[in-house]
Amino acid sequence: MDSAVHKMIIVSAPSGAGKTTIVRHLLQKFPQLSFSVSATSRKIREGEKDGREYYFVSSDEFRLLISNEKLLEWQEVYSGSYYGTMISEVKRINDAGQFPVFDVDVVGGLNIKKMYGSDSLALFIKPPSFEILEARLRARATDSEESLQNRLSKAKWELTFEQGFDKVIVNNTLETAFEQAEKLVSDFLGIRT
Ligand code: 5GP
Repeated sequence: MDSAVHKMIIVSAPSGAGKTTIVRHLLQKFPQLSFSVSATSRKIREGEKDGREYYFVSSDEFRLLISNEKLLEWQEVYSGSYYGTMISEVKRINDAGQFPVFDVDVVGGLNIKKMYGSDSLALFIKPPSFEILEARLRARATDSEESLQNRLSKAKWELTFEQGFDKVIVNNTLETAFEQAEKLVSDFLGIRT
């Protein structure tokens, strides 16, 4: 069996650090990568599509996924909102000869890293400062003030997990963050660009 098939990329960050943009860029740049679509019990947002950003399920359905051991890891990322990596996604991607990319919270990211060790590259995306992170979250304005405050206090806590990751990318300008991410991924996968 080709052991390279089991490599994987983990991308974690506090929300507002620009993680999703970097994940999208990597997926576009490297056809070898495939996005691991998580299950979540949170409500679908405008512009999202079931099966693309997430598999949107009810809380009861999520509990069943847990009890039937269908999840590699899961977290209650925000109070009442559950997110989990589906074992079937990892299998689907591996079977297609691709490498999964996990866009997960910092705790989930570290848990996957512990499971897969050197077969995984764990990237931590960091905003240049907490103030910039707050401004970015406010500009996005998809949340109520209360949920924004929740995200901010959570982000402060999440920023303390940096040292458990393999590499840290400071998302100052997107262009340099893209370049750094590309270089780290191509080195890890042994791809010449
Ligand atoms: P959002 O609700 O903004 O899409 O995502 C909230 C957070 O949940 C993000 O940090 C995202 O990376 C994280 N997340 C998404 N899927 C998973 C998952 O399967 N497991 C874990 N632990 N976190 C996830």
